Amino acid sequence: MLEDVQQILLDQETVARRVKELGAQITEDYAGREPVLVCILKGAALFTADLCRHIDLPISLDFMAISSYGSGTSSSGVVRITKDLDSSIENKDVIIVEDIVDSGLTLSYLLANLKSRHPASLSICVLLDKPERREVEVPVRYRGFEIPDHFVVGYGLDYAEKYRNLPYVGVLRPEVYMA
Ligand code: 5GP
Repeated sequence: MLEDVQQILLDQETVARRVKELGAQITEDYAGREPVLVCILKGAALFTADLCRHIDLPISLDFMAISSYGSGTSSSGVVRITKDLDSSIENKDVIIVEDIVDSGLTLSYLLANLKSRHPASLSICVLLDKPERREVEVPVRYRGFEIPDHFVVGYGLDYAEKYRNLPYVGVLRPEVYMA
């Protein structure tokens, strides 16, 4: 797998340090509240698992799985919910936890969808942000890292379901997805 990665963008220690900071920030911002973390499967699974352990509040976790129609390395914004939340989020403080915001189409769909369920508040936490590729603005409140426009894998992010278990975020060799 290592040979398919051309550059390690964020090593394991760097990711861990930043995730801890984000957890501390959320703990501070949501003091006295009991937020629901909505993990967007599968990409945000590893990020959510680490993040929630740095939030010192009585949080709950829920999961949503989506599949987005698009070519190999970009999304179309046409999103299908393949697993919905288990519980109602009405009147809850909800934090959407997503792996990456690229065009912004996926998150803007999710935001509209979850907003329609009348949460008390709704915010977005992403590990990675590729601002160069943005097509629609999304209000990201918590952001791990801004990264350049490369296709990245690892720490939950895949290409064709592979590489999610890499402990770092790395740039995939274009030969792998052009093949
Ligand atoms: P958007 O709708 O913002 O363009 O894309 C968001 C989704 O596209 C992410 O949830 C992720 O599934 C996928 N995506 C965007 N950029 C990357 C990337 O660099 N690597 C991987 N593995 N997935 C990406």
